[in-house]
Amino acid sequence: MLKTDFPLFMIDGHAYICDMTSKRVAGPEIEKLIQLLAKVPGLGPRSARRAALHLIKKKEQLMTPLAGALAEAVEKVQVCSVCSNVDTQDPCSICKDPRRDDATIIVVEDVSDLWALERAAEMSVRYHILGGTLSPLDGVGPDDLNIRSLIDRIASGGIKELILAVNATVEGQTTAHYLTAQLETFDVKITRLAHGVPVGGELDYLDEGTLSAALRSRTLF
Ligand code: ZN
Repeated sequence: MLKTDFPLFMIDGHAYICDMTSKRVAGPEIEKLIQLLAKVPGLGPRSARRAALHLIKKKEQLMTPLAGALAEAVEKVQVCSVCSNVDTQDPCSICKDPRRDDATIIVVEDVSDLWALERAAEMSVRYHILGGTLSPLDGVGPDDLNIRSLIDRIASGGIKELILAVNATVEGQTTAHYLTAQLETFDVKITRLAHGVPVGGELDYLDEGTLSAALRSRTLF
């Protein structure tokens, strides 16, 4: 048995020393796992420790299948050469789907926006992912986004409507204005998402910007 002044704990038959001086409580492999998990959005260091411990406790049921799924994803995930979506095939499942409307493209900032719109399941159309928004202060210019490929798609014909579903932020709206100017010469209807009162929202709780946008984009009842 290992002799130490520090407390010991066991995982899978291996003893780990609780090094009280450096506050390290696990072996380097576990520490590395915690550090990597802490980089996942939504997980801070504390949640990462809880997640790592949960994985260790559920080694067979969760950790092993998760490691397999991660390895498979690393091998198979690729970016769609048409719309920049992520999938395990190129073109992606959405670009390949013959049931979707070819004449309408929804332009989004990120894949998460595409997923959100698909959850709403309102329209069965095509997408184009910009990969961000124009932000001169952060050094993001038109060449850093998938704008050239969008113009090429429209230039190849068949697109009747482009829906700009960018975020209602300064950068999102700047990007929308830039795209509209770039696509001026094409015979394509450019629309944007309505800004206004959220479903289930109460007027009293809305900020002035949202309320004035809702008033400006009022529709016939
Ligand atoms: Zn695609």
